Amino acid sequence: MKTLLPGAVVEGQPVTLGVMGGGQLGRMFVHAAQAMGYATAVLDPDASSPAGLVSHHHIATAYEDPQGLAQLAACSGAITTEFENVPAPALAALAHTRPVSPGAAAVAIAQDRTQEKAHFDRCGVSCAPYAVISTEAQLAAVSEDLLPGILKTARMGYDGKGQMRVSSRTVLSEAWQSLGGVACVLEKMLPLVSECSVIVARGADGTMVNFPVQDNLHRDGILAITQVMPGRVDPALEAQLVAAARAIAQGVDYVGVLCVEFFVLQGGQWVVNEMAPRPHNSGHYTMDACDQSQFDLQVRTLAGLPLVQPRQHSPAIMLNLLGDLWFNSGHEQTPAWDQVLALPGAHLHLYGKLSARKGRKMGHVNFIASTTQEVRANALKAAAILGIEAFE
Ligand code: ATP
Ligand code: MG
Repeated sequence: MKTLLPGAVVEGQPVTLGVMGGGQLGRMFVHAAQAMGYATAVLDPDASSPAGLVSHHHIATAYEDPQGLAQLAACSGAITTEFENVPAPALAALAHTRPVSPGAAAVAIAQDRTQEKAHFDRCGVSCAPYAVISTEAQLAAVSEDLLPGILKTARMGYDGKGQMRVSSRTVLSEAWQSLGGVACVLEKMLPLVSECSVIVARGADGTMVNFPVQDNLHRDGILAITQVMPGRVDPALEAQLVAAARAIAQGVDYVGVLCVEFFVLQGGQWVVNEMAPRPHNSGHYTMDACDQSQFDLQVRTLAGLPLVQPRQHSPAIMLNLLGDLWFNSGHEQTPAWDQVLALPGAHLHLYGKLSARKGRKMGHVNFIASTTQEVRANALKAAAILGIEAFE
């Protein structure tokens, strides 16, 4: 792959990096690309998308609009994606004329839980016991062993959407009907000790680097808190999870930033949950706690620049800022950022979304400090100010 050097001028135009999708991940990618001197182009149908608002170019068409795709390809030297439900055929179409990373094949696998689990299998990484349910016969054949379980639509799920907890065969069958009888996987409900994730970045030449293991707390199926600091994750477990994430990336010849989520079980056992073919909410702490962020690495992989193993310089805690914090007893409010920013080591990131809704990701705040005690104390104070439940 040809390197796109930052600041280069091609036919009178600054070299431009393109992104499919205009959400917060696209916005942070755009910020990182611009900081390095690239121009940016975003394709997203929403006229006020978080990334579109801050990009040099915003192409406001549907993801599969041939003209929109042609426009994006015309102005971009290379194209990436920021959410996993970008239609894989659109990525494949772009790849005819421009380098696209991650590629359509890897994104297609991550978009479908059945393909994703098959990929984990091929890489020798175990996931929770499961069954595919896309027909009445498969529904009838489900083993009792998988109950209680979680029924998940094979496609288009995020933040716990398209999932139902099922305790019996009757409930399972009702749940499958209520999800529209679409292709699903039923996963056995596992007793989780914790949840972790690993972010790797892999270049077109196969070079791979990774961030340390993130310890994630989910509430109501949505990431709430990420903590990354010495002593948080057992070093032996850390080594295993990093090796698994690397194998999963390598197994699909991945190019770009990939996040792999894991469930940690009793006795040091673990299984893989899912992968996201893009930077991830659990990696937002890297923006302030590491010498390169996950978005910097996305820029580097896309532009064919060198990948250097990132270094975390400070213990970190990220608090996700959901739309719920914008409401107090039913009344809209602006959270008390002045009080939060009075705490040492606070780094606020808001995504420029004008309307808050419950469960909507509005921003995040990273805390860093020189010690784990200090970072915890300040992050807990911020949580109390904002009305986020305390955490261990
Ligand atoms: P996202 O894309 O936001 O990570 P998602 O909608 O793809 O979420 P999952 O990651 O599959 O959903 O599940 C969301 C959460 O539900 C998990 O982080 C975990 O807390 C819980 N969960 C999912 N599957 C299981 C399981 N088999 N056993 C126990 N808990 C589970
Ligand atoms: Mg998940």
